[in-house]
Amino acid sequence: MIKERELTRVFQPIAGDANNPGLKWETVMAWAETRKTRSLVARPTSLEECQAVLGFARQHGLTVCPRGAGHSYADAILNNGEIVLDMSRMNRILTWDRENGELVVEPGVTFAQILSKVLLARWTLSACVGGMGVTVAGAVSNDVHGKDSWKVGNFGNHVLALKLLTSQGEVVTVDRNGDYELFRSVVAGLGLLGVLVEVTLQLQRVPSAFVEVTTIPVRDLNESLEVMERAKESSDFIISWVDAFANGKGLGRGTVEIARWLDVREDIDSLELERSLTVPRSIFGLFPATFTWSMVRPFFRPRMIQVANAAKYRRDQWGGRRTGKALFTDFNFMLNKIPGWKHLYRPYGYLEFQPMIPRHKGNEMLAEILNMCRTEQAQSLLCAVKSHKPSDFPLSYAGDGYSIGIDIALRGRDRQSVVRFTRRLYDYVAGQGGMAFLAKDETLPRDLFVQMYPRYQEFLQVKRRVDSRNLFVSDMYRRLLA
Ligand SMILES: Cc1cc2nc3c(=O)[nH]c(=O)nc-3n(C[C@H](O)[C@H](O)[C@H](O)COP(=O)(O)OP(=O)(O)OC[C@H]3O[C@@H](n4cnc5c(N)ncnc54)[C@H](O)[C@@H]3O)c2cc1C
Repeated sequence: MIKERELTRVFQPIAGDANNPGLKWETVMAWAETRKTRSLVARPTSLEECQAVLGFARQHGLTVCPRGAGHSYADAILNNGEIVLDMSRMNRILTWDRENGELVVEPGVTFAQILSKVLLARWTLSACVGGMGVTVAGAVSNDVHGKDSWKVGNFGNHVLALKLLTSQGEVVTVDRNGDYELFRSVVAGLGLLGVLVEVTLQLQRVPSAFVEVTTIPVRDLNESLEVMERAKESSDFIISWVDAFANGKGLGRGTVEIARWLDVREDIDSLELERSLTVPRSIFGLFPATFTWSMVRPFFRPRMIQVANAAKYRRDQWGGRRTGKALFTDFNFMLNKIPGWKHLYRPYGYLEFQPMIPRHKGNEMLAEILNMCRTEQAQSLLCAVKSHKPSDFPLSYAGDGYSIGIDIALRGRDRQSVVRFTRRLYDYVAGQGGMAFLAKDETLPRDLFVQMYPRYQEFLQVKRRVDSRNLFVSDMYRRLLA
């Protein structure tokens, strides 16, 4: 690892000099805030500035980890002691064809930016994640999924072409009709093959900006999966919210939320859409987020969530099935309505993991996972089950199955014992043919990674071809692939 003082001397930022975009030592964390690293960070605004950073890295024997909005939970976006290339300032929408829905963007453009431009004209992104601040390049590099991925596949399915800045500083265009081997490795490629500097997407035509949302209370896991499967006939989005504290007969109880695009003539004005795409500063328009969470934090305990979940379940059971209309962005980005919620987990952060399991073992495996969490007293505070579809990208988190999101707050817990627990859980998942979502992982051991992602060698072959000097590296790469 190169010394901080040494590098600061050789690379002082010079304002306005395109060959010197400025690199600064900064403390860098990922979304879950479990670990602090120090890296040389650059925030280029042009291709030339990116090239200058790569040139500098080559010259000084440093490695580079591209970064988008920093919504990945852990070491996929950390590169301790080396360079982090923050691409969030390359964020212009370049062209948009309103007739055929082709959209060309810079890598740092966010989901919110795109939807604010296209939704009023009745176009949308497919496979929208739950966080509207996620960037297009970040979405490509993890081949992210949405509540519609069981139907439309993951984000990579909707990518038409990419421009990749390689370790030699050249820009190559990658698409399905050219070097397909490279294309399918860049999608879900974890930023390890080069820097995405432009992405062309195919948008999806929609009848309006609204969805009809139906919430259906379910008594147990069996009913939940049945409702999810049945809903496929008539819906576009499906998610099941599970009360992870329930057990026995109520194991897996909760609410299934399904939605479908509505064909209504009603238009919304752009202000309403902007409001929907803006993260509020205060909670319920009243309480400043940071202050409120710091007051609530001492009381934020699993027991509190358990009581709240039980109350919600009773209310939902009593209310029965409900249907309403919602703006798509309000429905999809629910979490963004609660500003700064991750402050609740500070200062220790939380571990999130999201196993995916084969569909035919859905009931049995989800039950086992929920039971394992309960035995460990590690019930997820927020727990969602989604349905997925296979893809052809070697490192993609995709398959014919279900995923379950589990987060464990580290406050009051011994990190090592949580890590040992995730190892047991991942052992079970891998043994049954399942996999972990790398975007949210920081504990998966290499032997289980190899078992879960058997096509990783295909990916490494492509990496050797396009990045023979191993310029693009992250802490996750060192953990799982090096
Ligand atoms: C609140 C929240 C909700 C989420 N919901 C979902 C969900 O519903 N579905 C889902 O699939 N995921 C979800 N995620 C995870 C998130 O979508 C992924 O981690 C996504 O990749 C983050 O994108 P980002 O723009 O923040 O990029 P980062 O997290 O900063 O980077 C992600 C990856 O992209 C690479 N990268 C970024 N920019 C470039 C570039 N220009 N060139 C090359 N590589 C690059 C990085 O090296 C890294 O490997 C959620 C995360 C949060 C915090």
